[in-house]
Amino acid sequence: MTSPSRYLLTAALPYANGPVHIGHLAGCYLPADIYARFLRAKKADVKFVGGTDEHGVPITIRAMKENVSPQEIVDKYYTIIAESFEQMGISFDIFSRTSKEIHHNTSQDFFLNLYEKGLFEERESEQFFDEEKQMFLADRYIVGTCPICGHTNAYGDQCEKCGSSLSPEQLINPRSVLSDAIPVKKKTKHWYFPLQNYEEFLRKWILEDHKDWKNNVYGQCKSWLDNGLQPRAMTRDSNWGVKVPLPDAEGKVLYVWFDAPIGYISATKELTNLWTDYWYKEDTKLVHFIGKDNIVFHCIIFPAMLKAHGDFILPTNVPANEFLNIEGQKVSTSRNWAVWIDEYLKDFPGQQDVLRYVLCANAPETKDNDFTWKDFQDRNNSELVAIFGNFVNRTFVLMHKLCGGKVPPLHNSILDNADKKMIEEFANTKKKVENLLEQFKFREALYEVIDLARKGNKYMQDKQPWIVAKRTNDDGQPTTEAQQVIDNCLHICLQLCANLAIFINPFLPFTGKKMMHMMKVVERMLDWENGGKLKLLSTGYSLRAPELLFRKIEDSEVKAQVEKLNNGLALSSEKAAEKTLSSDKLAVSSDQIAQNKNEEKNDSSSMKPEITIEDFTKIDLKAGTILSAEKVEKADKLLKLQIDLGFEKRTILSGIAKHFSPEEIVGKQVVVVANLAPRKMRGIESNGMILMAEDKEGKLHFVKPENVIENGSGVS
Ligand SMILES: [Zn+2]
Repeated sequence: MTSPSRYLLTAALPYANGPVHIGHLAGCYLPADIYARFLRAKKADVKFVGGTDEHGVPITIRAMKENVSPQEIVDKYYTIIAESFEQMGISFDIFSRTSKEIHHNTSQDFFLNLYEKGLFEERESEQFFDEEKQMFLADRYIVGTCPICGHTNAYGDQCEKCGSSLSPEQLINPRSVLSDAIPVKKKTKHWYFPLQNYEEFLRKWILEDHKDWKNNVYGQCKSWLDNGLQPRAMTRDSNWGVKVPLPDAEGKVLYVWFDAPIGYISATKELTNLWTDYWYKEDTKLVHFIGKDNIVFHCIIFPAMLKAHGDFILPTNVPANEFLNIEGQKVSTSRNWAVWIDEYLKDFPGQQDVLRYVLCANAPETKDNDFTWKDFQDRNNSELVAIFGNFVNRTFVLMHKLCGGKVPPLHNSILDNADKKMIEEFANTKKKVENLLEQFKFREALYEVIDLARKGNKYMQDKQPWIVAKRTNDDGQPTTEAQQVIDNCLHICLQLCANLAIFINPFLPFTGKKMMHMMKVVERMLDWENGGKLKLLSTGYSLRAPELLFRKIEDSEVKAQVEKLNNGLALSSEKAAEKTLSSDKLAVSSDQIAQNKNEEKNDSSSMKPEITIEDFTKIDLKAGTILSAEKVEKADKLLKLQIDLGFEKRTILSGIAKHFSPEEIVGKQVVVVANLAPRKMRGIESNGMILMAEDKEGKLHFVKPENVIENGSGVS
């Protein structure tokens, strides 16, 4: 679609059972917001919808833990989440809730539409049942001892301690969370959606027609499709959720992943009477912003549902982000290893844009990325303060000092090459930023904006208007020629400030607003079409004194945050418990934690639990060659290796120092887990892992291709 008539943007619905953290923000809300603001600045017809997902097992579990009703839980967290988003400037046109009547009605209508077409298969199956409470038990409602690590409170779907995916059958001594009763199997009926019937449609729609989707999204879809799709139950036994609208469905609700994406439709309905324009018309561009753990639901299941219904358009793109780690470790809500938005807002009042900046500049767009407080400080101090803020501030100070506080005229006759080149950059940057934003490359787009400010600094430094001002007449005033040079420089720098305000506004709206105030312009000036122009501020117009856009972040502030993280980890008190489970759906998935297990000693007699091919294909194995190896100070097990992967060189720390001397392994070819999240050990960042086999004597052997092959070759 080259020029859509309207846009509908959605951002994943967070579970209303805990606050949101920076992983959520970086994953989908911030990119969605930047895109929405950019489109609004372009005067596009855009609706940005979201809301909380208030159904599903995590809500009822949370309620049980806090000993309140599910309604009380969702009311509490809806308020906290909505407020966090609002304060961070996430500009939803509507932020609704799936507990609303309009959503229940919309979801039931949707279900009935498919039901009446005879699309569901009714099937009986055996499910675990609590005889004491007379209730069917979702996997999460069954706890027991983890067969892998021995943790005594593992859930029926996952052990939160070791991260293994489990089924209730695997638990040792399983019991019901509700009553401690031993679960028994009982027959129950459910409605299955035959996903396999949509395989052909999905193959063509995604694999052929959407090669433009991000690699991570396309790849995950392909692996799902290649594995073959299965019928999926779209109902559950529960008393919390959207009731199945059929006469023989007492005690049954819609599966949360059936109704949650319909929440986007309900929210649009609630927002505007014209909602069918956004959902039915082919010239609407629908974009789902999500985290990577939601890909299958948004790219496979929901589109198949929409297709089955028949009235709806399909998403044009689903730009899912990867995960954001914190200080080298996976986010864990249960361990309170997270930076919570509500707490950030208290600790850094008025600093929303700094967080927005850092999360965008370091967004996990193509791979998992790491958030560190040091990086937060560095980016603030050396980019926002030293480049962007500094340029704007200098321009305003000099304009007041050398041009009487007014926009000086531009003397066209004496424009030199440097002036002209600087002016050309306005339009160049505009073009680059919009191209990148249209491709959902938010990091690169933001980089271009900062780079423009960097060029502004360089331009001013080369022009040195404060030195030129020393060329004076007898009266101590600059000569006419000198003043003209000064005028030109500051005229261009001021117009550059106006351009920067336009370009930065979608990313850092609070900063855009401050700049508008300094320039005494109305919001209309920030329209995207004004970007790239030279005549945004009129000659002779008087501007306000500069206000500081950004302030330095001190060592003590980031130190306090790191301590807070570590303290949160140490204390598994109410606080941590309160945040538990807050984002099972969005941020933490079992494969995230799996990496921690690499450290566990391999016991060759034991087998790990079964995985699917798609679990395995998540691991990116590549051949590489060891370029150099050296010992790591104060770490007697570690060697620091430089590995040539063909397309890049990597530093990898490997715990093999007791088995090999550095000299003997240089030049060896190895197999590397290339997409392992970076981790810091002894202050060194390790980017991957070398595969080793261990024999009975505990001796290590390199796993490597039989013959030397090209570095970077894939292993599978
Ligand atoms: Zn375990």
